[in-house]
Order: sequence, then structure tokens, then C-alpha cells
Amino acid sequence: MPPIKEQPVRDLRESYVCEECGAAFRTRGLKNNHTNRKHRRRYNCDHCESAFALNADLQRHKRTVHKETIPSSSKAFTCPYDGCATPTKKFTRRDNLSRHMVRCLNAQAKPV
Ligand SMILES: [Zn+2]
Ligand SMILES: [Zn+2]
Ligand SMILES: [Zn+2]
Repeated sequence: MPPIKEQPVRDLRESYVCEECGAAFRTRGLKNNHTNRKHRRRYNCDHCESAFALNADLQRHKRTVHKETIPSSSKAFTCPYDGCATPTKKFTRRDNLSRHMVRCLNAQAKPV
């Protein structure tokens, strides 16, 4: 029987060990840093397998890797008035929509 290979001994009492992967760190801060970056990836990319700890990282990933632009639905406004002549027209700026809504209301207020 060959002798059991000796494992390098780490003093675990002095280190903070990651529960997820067993990596040891000198300070709690380093360990938390590691856990957050490596294992707390709450933001999943809906285009690929990537996941990120920070939403900002995910957004950057989507922009750079998938050339994704900000979804138009969240940035575009449409006229809420029923009698609008152009109800599907999208306004990318709220002030543009406001100006349109004033015109829209005026147009509707006109006697036919
Ligand atoms: Zn870990
Ligand atoms: Zn991705
Ligand atoms: Zn309108």
C-alpha cells in the first residue's frame, strides 16, 4: 500500500472558508467579497448562461455581448387619449408626449 499523500495543511480556524466551494480567506471581508462575486449571481442573462452579482454588470454584459439596447417599451410613451389620431405613435421623451397630449386634447375639444 502506498502511503497516503500528505495534504497541505491549512489552518481553518484562522481563515474564513467559503461554504460554496471551500476556498479559504484571511478575512471575513475577502470571503464575503468572494461569495458575492462568485456565488451570489442573482442577475441572469436571458440570452446566455451568464449570471452576475450586480445588475449593472448584467446590463453592461447585455449591451457589450448581445448588443442589446434598452427595451423600447420602457422608454417609449404613447398617447393615452381614446380619440387620439395617432394612438400607436411612440414618443421617446415624456416632454414630447406632453406637448402632443395638449394638441391632442385641443383637437378633440374642437366642435366637429
Ligand atoms: Zn466560493
Ligand atoms: Zn448573455
Ligand atoms: Zn394623442
